[in-house]
Amino acid sequence: MNYINEMTLQFDSHSINEGFARSAVAAFCVQLNPTLDEITDIKTAVSEAVTNCVVHAYPKSKGKITVWVGLKKTREIDIKVIDNGVGIADLQRAREPFFTTKPDEERAGMGFTVMESFMDTVNLERNENGGIVVEMSKSLGRRKAMAVGGEND
Ligand code: ATP
Ligand code: MG
Repeated sequence: MNYINEMTLQFDSHSINEGFARSAVAAFCVQLNPTLDEITDIKTAVSEAVTNCVVHAYPKSKGKITVWVGLKKTREIDIKVIDNGVGIADLQRAREPFFTTKPDEERAGMGFTVMESFMDTVNLERNENGGIVVEMSKSLGRRKAMAVGGEND
């Protein structure tokens, strides 16, 4: 898919890893020279997706969360957050604002709505293990990219 740089992270579903994943993705995307607002949007979306894996995908025991990021020369960022957890019965319904299966835990049901408003596209799919793949993309505005594809690459 014409990525100039890709990375994959895998970590356990401890809530402490939400901050790690958010910061790691942001650090990787910096080479495309995003604005502060753009990087904040990406961090927020990744945080929501990873939090969902921690809270919903693996409610009883810990499991693995995979975050993949692909950067395009056109300054488009594709992100996948993948779990092998319990899955979602109704994918359409899960995306609705205020829909939550954990109202008792003070969940607002706004995670997917937040992802949709901060990213250009958000796709929700089941993976082969019954878990969930959240696929998001964002095109950065017109600025010059740095680092990748330079003389020493
Ligand atoms: P909030 O994100 O506002 O704290 P929430 O997590 O319940 O609340 P969403 O992030 O929009 O709201 O998710 C909606 C619902 O989709 C969740 O309540 C949960 O039932 C389901 N869900 C989301 N992500 C996953 C996942 N990775 N695995 C299983 N179920 C999920
Ligand atoms: Mg959520």
